Amino acid sequence: MSEKAFVMIKPDGVQRGLVGEIVSRFEKKGLRLLRGEIMEISRETARVHYGHLQDKPFFEELVDYITSGPVFAMIVEGKEAVANARSLIGPTNPAEAPPGTIRGDFGLAVEENVIHGSDSPEHARREIRLFFEK
Ligand code: UDP
Repeated sequence: MSEKAFVMIKPDGVQRGLVGEIVSRFEKKGLRLLRGEIMEISRETARVHYGHLQDKPFFEELVDYITSGPVFAMIVEGKEAVANARSLIGPTNPAEAPPGTIRGDFGLAVEENVIHGSDSPEHARREIRLFFEK
């Protein structure tokens, strides 16, 4: 059964010209790109997207970071798309992400970790609504 995942290349990834390389990794893995769009996200959308982190000390900086430039938002589809996208992306902290993962290959620190991927099919549906169906 096919599943959809929401993936977003964050402003540092877009600014560094990594969109093509990263999209290519999803395609080579076998995930199909259904939508892909450069967009600027509002602070309000950022706050909703990261609502589960609103009590964390880094929350305002996270909102600053994610709204600091355009992002590349995408929907990928395939078998276990959420789990497969997460394994391509790697752990939250690039310093702990193994080489071969996107964060392991392209990031240095958790504050600028290049890419987001939904952590469950339910969150994927919510994020697709938030970013693509407003
Ligand atoms: N983040 C941060 N500092 C931290 C932990 C997380 O700036 O100590 C940011 C980072 O951009 C991360 C995002 O908050 O990707 C969301 O955190 P979450 O725990 O949901 O990790 P993810 O699902 O992105 O791996």
